Amino acid sequence: MKLAIVGGGINGLSSAWQLALAGHQVTLFERDTLMAATSSASSKLLHGGLRYLEQGEFRLVREALQERRWWLKKAPQLTRRLPILYPIYRDSRRPRWQLKIGLWLYDTFAGRKGIGRHRWLTPQQTLRCSPHLAAAGLTGAYLFFDGQMDDRKLGLWMAQQCTKAGVQLVEHSPVLKVTAEGRVLLSSGWQQFDRVVNVAGPWSQQLLQQSGLPQQALDLVRGSHLLLPPISRYGHMLEVPGEARIVFVLPYQCNTLLGTTEVRQQLDEAIKCSAAEREYLLNLYNHYFQPSADSSTVLADFAGVRPLLAGSANASKASREYQLNWQGQLLTVSGGKWTTARALGKQVSQAVASN
Ligand SMILES: Cc1cc2nc3c(=O)[nH]c(=O)nc-3n(C[C@H](O)[C@H](O)[C@H](O)COP(=O)(O)OP(=O)(O)OC[C@H]3O[C@@H](n4cnc5c(N)ncnc54)[C@H](O)[C@@H]3O)c2cc1C
Repeated sequence: MKLAIVGGGINGLSSAWQLALAGHQVTLFERDTLMAATSSASSKLLHGGLRYLEQGEFRLVREALQERRWWLKKAPQLTRRLPILYPIYRDSRRPRWQLKIGLWLYDTFAGRKGIGRHRWLTPQQTLRCSPHLAAAGLTGAYLFFDGQMDDRKLGLWMAQQCTKAGVQLVEHSPVLKVTAEGRVLLSSGWQQFDRVVNVAGPWSQQLLQQSGLPQQALDLVRGSHLLLPPISRYGHMLEVPGEARIVFVLPYQCNTLLGTTEVRQQLDEAIKCSAAEREYLLNLYNHYFQPSADSSTVLADFAGVRPLLAGSANASKASREYQLNWQGQLLTVSGGKWTTARALGKQVSQAVASN
């Protein structure tokens, strides 16, 4: 079949790859350059998402842990196994037993070929791993493992796999409209395809709106990160005091990546880290680490918008699952995580085969 993909983020690229491997003739249209939007503004984690266990998202976590292993194995030059500390303080929201159950499940879902099992560290052992971490009230930490990536480069690696499989990648080519009959409007005019897959991330519903087609609700939630000087070789998963949220403080390319936030976003607003988000992140960092950081310590910041399935009043509890929705010959993909992009691509390929 002759197929069009709209969107050159990780989900569009992974879908294009899977469809090309299944023998289809695939053209991918990206309005800017490949991997320039959400997919290069992530927390850089290839992870199951320990905190999604709290929300009962067992299917997603199990799938993401399997996909984590695939990325680490297939692209070792752009990924690595990252040790992460979850410190527990006397006033932590989650008791040690709850973390223990979560991490046991996490290791179990990762299977026997996991990347290392969790273990408990005493306060002294924790501070040896992370000497700048606040010591007052520290009762210890769980050490566990996840994957880390250079998201942009790993996505461009996936683009290479697409090219090898015969996908035609067309950058600087915005799709202006799509139809349920498989037509795509470009600045050069209409083109006809057997099927069209709309994987435009946060913009997928906007494209449907522009095309006069019914839309599904998406929650658009901005997440910002700060880049700070190096603090530790270990990653940290930290509770936000007074909130159910967590933030990450991770070693990344010789610096420290601190994030993220959750702020609802409109598509006509600029996607950038606000002064309030910067202050929120710096306050959190200073709650846990010495020496403290301020605006002058920040090396860079960046932001992206999560295209989450709608349905939760609380952005941090919104599902990270994905959904596929057919309208005639047009398939729209909503939601999803970076880590599960290949699994999402396989679902897209199966959906195209059975429609
Ligand atoms: C702050 C933050 C942190 C995250 N951290 C992680 C993490 O650590 N691990 C993890 O697994 N996941 C993480 N995620 C989730 C993950 O990054 C996203 O789910 C994923 O990148 C979405 O990819 P996508 O391809 O659907 O969207 P995008 O990467 O946004 O790609 C969509 C593409 O479509 C293009 N486009 C839009 N409209 C058109 C049009 N009309 N014509 C042509 N092209 C068009 C855009 O230019 C864009 O390139 C994070 C997300 C955010 C925001």
